[in-house]
Amino acid sequence: MSPAAQRVRAALPLHPFGRRSGLDVPRVNMGGMRLPADLDEAVSLLRYAIDSGLRYIDCSRGYGECEWVVGRALKGGYRRKVILSTKWAPWITKIQPADNPSADRVRHRIDESMRRLDVDYLDFYQIWNITHRNEYDAAVARGGFLDGVLKAKKEGLVRHIGFTAHAPAADLLEYIDEADWCEVLLVSYNMLNQSYAPALEAAHRKGIGTLVMNPVGGGRLAEASPALLKLAREVGAKSVADLAVRYVLSNPNVDTILCGLHKRSDVDETLKSAARKPFTPAQKTRIDGFLADLLRAKSGFCTACKYCMPCPQGIDIPAVMSLIYDDRCWGFRDFARARYAGLRTAKADACVQCGKCEKACTQHLKIIQEMRYAHRNLRAAKKAAGH
Ligand code: SF4
Ligand code: SF4
Repeated sequence: MSPAAQRVRAALPLHPFGRRSGLDVPRVNMGGMRLPADLDEAVSLLRYAIDSGLRYIDCSRGYGECEWVVGRALKGGYRRKVILSTKWAPWITKIQPADNPSADRVRHRIDESMRRLDVDYLDFYQIWNITHRNEYDAAVARGGFLDGVLKAKKEGLVRHIGFTAHAPAADLLEYIDEADWCEVLLVSYNMLNQSYAPALEAAHRKGIGTLVMNPVGGGRLAEASPALLKLAREVGAKSVADLAVRYVLSNPNVDTILCGLHKRSDVDETLKSAARKPFTPAQKTRIDGFLADLLRAKSGFCTACKYCMPCPQGIDIPAVMSLIYDDRCWGFRDFARARYAGLRTAKADACVQCGKCEKACTQHLKIIQEMRYAHRNLRAAKKAAGH
């Protein structure tokens, strides 16, 4: 461990992980979604993060070889130093198209994840990626996903249960209200997308541990944006990434964040930001005001509420809107274009101008016009990236 990491670790306090779990965690933990492809490099990085004081590891059956790699990193006494979590979703059919949300099927997946991780119990097992009401209902139905996890819990294979969501914000509030079994909630939340702030508040109030992914907006907040650099300087942040991490950790409803692991400096820099003072209410008001003014001045403001979905043409409208803002408002042009090229859903030019989304949009946005903007301005990079 570097001297810098040792210094930071000494100042790394534990924080209650919601009342229901009874656990404590540091405010920075490990995301296993994009580990280095090289096994030795990934194992070394995971151990570096654990040695630096990070504890909770977020894995998934659907993150490629993540479970297998984490299992290798946890040899040699590392297993007992971590809170190990994995998850699965029967509706993410890339794992197995014939999957279903039954108790038997989830048990099969729990056993399989434990074999891949080479462990004899999981600290957390989560229902992964609830997006629609029918998925939540299927998961909690008698003989379904939740029953399977509860049975595994009784048998000592799983210690805690939770779920992750990309659902409309209002729906998520309903699930939080109903899910008296839930001990941890994992959602995306950052300076540029705060649609789940009410969900984090509701979960925190109920004693559910709150865990945030994408605190630096999937990496885009680590890039230099002139507007955000100006804001960072104004509130005394060291960089845009420092601004982003401290902004999320300044929310008292966020228990902890996941740090994406690509290189050692990700761990060091995130820990340094977490060790700095949270923003004061006055600084937070300044940041919120700055962001709102900028968004209002440059375009309408998509809150990612998802009421416009599904688009009959298969366009992920909130995702495209978010990339438009990255390009137009924040100046993250290369990032936006690369992400647009990588979208697995239909591109904006699939829009047939049916108007369904505009009728449903809570912010009365001109979505059809925005799809044209995306096609004109983001598509060029697709060609460039595809050379
Ligand atoms: S107007 Fe375009 S983007 Fe909106 S729902 Fe119809 S096809 Fe989808
Ligand atoms: S485009 Fe409108 S309805 Fe769709 S997510 Fe954004 S704000 Fe919500």
